[in-house]
Amino acid sequence: MATNSTSRYLPHGTFFNELRKRVDAYFLASGRPTNQTPPGMFLKTAVILGWFAASWVLLVFVAANWWQSALACISLGLAMAGIGFSIQHDGNHGGYSKHKWINVVMAHTLDLLGGSSYIWHWKHNVFHHSNPNITGLDVDIDIRPLARMSPEQQLRAGHRFQHLYIWPLYSLLAIKWHFIDDFINLAKGKIGAQHFPRPTGWKLAAFFAGKITFYGWAFAIPLMVLPWWQVLLNYLLWSATLSLTLAVTFQLAHCVEGAAFPKLDLGSDPKMEWAVHQVVTSANFGLGNPLVTWYVGGLNYQIEHHLFPKVCSYRLPEIAPIVQQLCAEQGISYKINTTPGAVVSHARWMRQMGQAPSLA
Ligand SMILES: [Zn+2]
Repeated sequence: MATNSTSRYLPHGTFFNELRKRVDAYFLASGRPTNQTPPGMFLKTAVILGWFAASWVLLVFVAANWWQSALACISLGLAMAGIGFSIQHDGNHGGYSKHKWINVVMAHTLDLLGGSSYIWHWKHNVFHHSNPNITGLDVDIDIRPLARMSPEQQLRAGHRFQHLYIWPLYSLLAIKWHFIDDFINLAKGKIGAQHFPRPTGWKLAAFFAGKITFYGWAFAIPLMVLPWWQVLLNYLLWSATLSLTLAVTFQLAHCVEGAAFPKLDLGSDPKMEWAVHQVVTSANFGLGNPLVTWYVGGLNYQIEHHLFPKVCSYRLPEIAPIVQQLCAEQGISYKINTTPGAVVSHARWMRQMGQAPSLA
């Protein structure tokens, strides 16, 4: 029996066994094994890191007036979100390369952005991926008491406006990472109600080295060139751009109409095997848009990502038709939205959750 403080794993069943057989057969026939980094990934990594560096140089050393600074801030925030989507995420899942050290290096690009790749591993890979959309276990749907994202969460009077105020709240996400959440999680050894082993040795050193590096490029160097108030305003704008882009993209993949929010105790449903749970709690979006797929690192193929988290995001579109076919054969709901449709659906879901009676 699952508890509120322990991650748990549903068993594999017939759906996943058949799916894995078909996907393995596809990759074998393709002649390109899944542990081989697609050349496009290296190019993409170089482009996004170059975009990030160029935006920072323009912001700190080149921008000569307010609108140039504003454009550079937006560019910097979007480039940072791109690093999060397309580089650190694959690295941390071990899907970037067959070489562990390359995955470790790519995962640590998150530390460069002021987040902890160690804490991300537990928060995302373990707590979110194991139990998507389960209240009490999936921290991605838990910003209680500020908002109600799941039918299992308690409804409060102010939630009736959450579909309006959620967007400015999302834009504070990075500030929380940079100065609050990682340190509290580290001190408590807990993320939400769930425990994780505190980092020790070089992992603890990497945590602090990452924070110091981030504070250096984000604040110390800019303060040598620009007045303090401009550094602060710039930070507020680029961190809001980063936060909104990250938070909205994450929410489009799970927190939309039609996604399931299963109750904690799934043991009574014999059909709810691990892979079916992953499919019904996830939603794809923008599948026909190559720019969206490139920028969000395949996170728009969220169903395939959750089924095969160690497959490089670059290759998820290849296996989507196989997953769709099997879901259709077995009567499992496979949700696809357009990108704007997913944004509207998230807003509608938040409105519904702000008004519906609590089932808890
Ligand atoms: Zn993931």
